[in-house]
Amino acid sequence: MPANLPILHDHPLDSLNTFRIPARARHYLRVDGAEQLAILRADPVLAALPRLVLGGGSNLLFTGDFDGVVLHMAGQGKEVLGERDGKVLVRAQAGENWHAFVQWTLSQGLGGLENLSLIPGTVGAAPIQNVGAYGTETKDVFDSLTAFDMATGDVRTLDAAACRFGYRDSIFKQPEGRDLVVLDVTFALTAAWTPNLRYAELAKAVEEAGLSAPTPQEIGAIVEAIRRRKLPDPAEIGNAGSFFKNPVVPQEQCARLLVEFPNLVHHAQADGSEKLAAGWLIDQCGWKGKSLGRAGVYPKQALVLVNLGGALGSEVVALARAIQADVKARYGVELEPEPVFI
Ligand SMILES: Cc1cc2nc3c(=O)[nH]c(=O)nc-3n(C[C@H](O)[C@H](O)[C@H](O)COP(=O)(O)OP(=O)(O)OC[C@H]3O[C@@H](n4cnc5c(N)ncnc54)[C@H](O)[C@@H]3O)c2cc1C
Repeated sequence: MPANLPILHDHPLDSLNTFRIPARARHYLRVDGAEQLAILRADPVLAALPRLVLGGGSNLLFTGDFDGVVLHMAGQGKEVLGERDGKVLVRAQAGENWHAFVQWTLSQGLGGLENLSLIPGTVGAAPIQNVGAYGTETKDVFDSLTAFDMATGDVRTLDAAACRFGYRDSIFKQPEGRDLVVLDVTFALTAAWTPNLRYAELAKAVEEAGLSAPTPQEIGAIVEAIRRRKLPDPAEIGNAGSFFKNPVVPQEQCARLLVEFPNLVHHAQADGSEKLAAGWLIDQCGWKGKSLGRAGVYPKQALVLVNLGGALGSEVVALARAIQADVKARYGVELEPEPVFI
């Protein structure tokens, strides 16, 4: 082991994942920057081991111990870089807490990230699944990022096109992006801002609050209030947010389903396909509030699976599989998990 890397061994990960699933890492390193990754890469023993890049652990499910090196991204720092094309460029290190970073931008009157308030996790993870909520996705306000390439040892800059963002997707989830460790992310925000109220629930809440000309900060506060009402706080009940992606199906399949299920919740996509509400499908199968072992379906939101106390990853997986089987049998639709299974 390199003497200049503070590696811990057999390290507990229970408090480092929001599902609160018990798991241990064979080796564990808090990473502040590229230098440590370069040293690790140069070590033949460590470089050959499986790697897990860990942020806030809010989008993964441990199904056992991790027999490799956990790289816990801890780099801190955020700065305003300056203006370009009427946008203010703001950069944050990967280990910054996402919500604290969003609030910091809003407190400066910069708009763009308000709809993504209160999402757990780190800045470095936001581009990985192109984090999205209330009609805004990371890609909408993304400028570029810096990543360390564990395959080549290079530090690379990637723009939005290079990140290949999609719905809960990016290059980092593909084989060609798996060696990239995000070090920092730059966003293009704006002071000359108009709210994104495409999401009906948010628009209604803004109207009810009597805000005819809301500020980014006010929208952020409303998003927070909605989320606190609907979603379980991971500090109180273990969960990873939405457990399944909303399935996207061809228009013809949606039309066929509507004949049998006229109340089917669906949203037309720009490419003609239809996005179905996974939470509605799960609810209709009778799973809301139900449990299997120590894993359960959150009573207020069927899309969220929760740790009822002491659950193992395998119990959450068993519940997820049972839900997937029921939704498939009733609607012929495959539900794809959103968190990464480790
Ligand atoms: C209550 C709750 C609500 C949520 N709501 C939303 C929501 O509205 N919208 C949404 O999109 N998500 C949501 N999530 C999911 C989650 O918060 C986001 O996906 C978040 O971006 C994950 O960040 P993290 O730092 O916890 O990543 P982790 O869970 O630690 O990691 C997730 C994945 O990203 C990789 N990764 C992490 N950091 C880096 C890095 N620096 N470089 C390379 N790879 C990295 C990991 O290897 C892993 O594959 C929610 C989760 C919870 C618990």
